[in-house]
Amino acid sequence: MNAPEHPVPLLADSPLAALAWDNPFGRLPGTFYTRLPPTPLPEPYFVAASPAAASLIGLAPDSLRLPSAVLPLAGSALFDGADPLAAVYAGHQFGVYVPQLGDGRALLLGAVRGADGQLWELQLKGSGRTPYSRMGDGRAVLRSSIREFLCSEAMHALGIPTTRALAITGSDYPVFRENVETAAVVTRMAPSFVRFGSFEYFFWRQDHESLRRLADAVIDAFYPECRAAGQGAGPYLALLREVARRTARLIAGWQGVGFCHGVMNSDNMSILGLTIDYGPFGFLDGFDAGHVCNHSDTHGRYAYDQQPAIAHWNLYCLGQALIPLTEDVDATRAACDAFVDEYAGAIDAVMHAKLGLATVEPGDQALIARLMQLLHANRADWTLFWRGLSRLRAAGPDPEADAAVRDLFADRAAFDAWAADYRARLRREASHDAERAARMNRVNPRIVLRNHLAEIAIRKARGDGGKPRDFSEVERLLRALARPYDDDPEFDDYAAPPPDWASGLVLSCSS
Ligand code: AMP
Ligand code: MG
Repeated sequence: MNAPEHPVPLLADSPLAALAWDNPFGRLPGTFYTRLPPTPLPEPYFVAASPAAASLIGLAPDSLRLPSAVLPLAGSALFDGADPLAAVYAGHQFGVYVPQLGDGRALLLGAVRGADGQLWELQLKGSGRTPYSRMGDGRAVLRSSIREFLCSEAMHALGIPTTRALAITGSDYPVFRENVETAAVVTRMAPSFVRFGSFEYFFWRQDHESLRRLADAVIDAFYPECRAAGQGAGPYLALLREVARRTARLIAGWQGVGFCHGVMNSDNMSILGLTIDYGPFGFLDGFDAGHVCNHSDTHGRYAYDQQPAIAHWNLYCLGQALIPLTEDVDATRAACDAFVDEYAGAIDAVMHAKLGLATVEPGDQALIARLMQLLHANRADWTLFWRGLSRLRAAGPDPEADAAVRDLFADRAAFDAWAADYRARLRREASHDAERAARMNRVNPRIVLRNHLAEIAIRKARGDGGKPRDFSEVERLLRALARPYDDDPEFDDYAAPPPDWASGLVLSCSS
């Protein structure tokens, strides 16, 4: 490690030091990263921790409140076992290749074997400048850190693959965005943070040796079954096919819960098919198929209904990068195209589950397409609609049971016509109301991280309006998001329709 610009104290006694650290990524050659320490933040404080994430690596959540944990989690100290490094990658940003990106404000600390036998990498995000910071300051603000923390844990609880979030720490250190904000660090966890862009970096630099090294490391650690595809190009084609399939299932999960990522650049696509790099994401409120959650995305490249096609496009970026290993353009394209069938099957299964349908009929696609048009035309709330739909009775209309969904449509007659066909469909498979409702409520969440819910928690945490900082809303929201399918009256406020001011919230890449 070079002599640090900022001296970082080494803590002898930290709950983090008690973990058994390893760093397989740090054993890759130096072309993959730069070793460097974090840049300390002054007087860091504890903001929040995820008990579920902490338990994955055998940490008591309360131990993360100790100064001996807060300091290293803020990058203001190190501990024995930490091996901090920033990884390099590249990627296509809004369709344009950028030859060098990388962990511009993140540092990998190393990896810890979890109770589940899984090796979990821990990464600080917002821990200062690195050689890959370009024009950035290496920092993250409290606002976006709270959003990433909450959404990581929310997505996991929804059953959607994602990087996890262990904790947030903050500091009064000023960070300049559109306004002056304050700094925070999110500690993220994932088996690997390798992105499609990690491969693109070596391909475009024509460093085929590193490219092969990376692909081999990923296959051996995460896709060992690909070795069964023989010698030579086989395992790399198998890897690409598997990544395409995982990505397809991921996107089907997003579409199902109405999640818009906002910045689906190829550097924000995980090689493990995880949701990664939460920025200006959003969950749909009123359903608009072309919803663009990122104010900076002026052309709507990453609109809700574009997400599947963009994921497929990003797989082509990955496929192209792997051609020196797969050695066959047509076979590479075919491996990327595994996305198409896998996505079709996955979204079909998601929609059938959301509708509570246990069987498949030829007319189902048309029934679903009509519903999507209806939801779009009426801007019906995505989450309220699906949750409320479980109350419909198969036998026929019932004003009381129907109201929760029917009232979401300005055009009641159009809804009634669709609902009549849906009920007929349910009767054809002898659907049992209570049994179907229970099934539907396990896939249609009652609570998602709507923008305004995050915003309320952020305003309290920042102490807007001259109030003292208050992190209790972050904690309460995390508890609700950890059980998104439960009907818990404690969290009725989170399940309510969004207030009028929610539609005025603007999110950009600034974080
Ligand atoms: P993103 O669009 O957030 O995925 O970021 C794209 C690239 O910009 C990544 O390489 C980030 O590490 C880098 N980056 C974003 N914000 C900052 C920042 N404030 N300081 C340094 N690098 C940043
Ligand atoms: Mg990113």
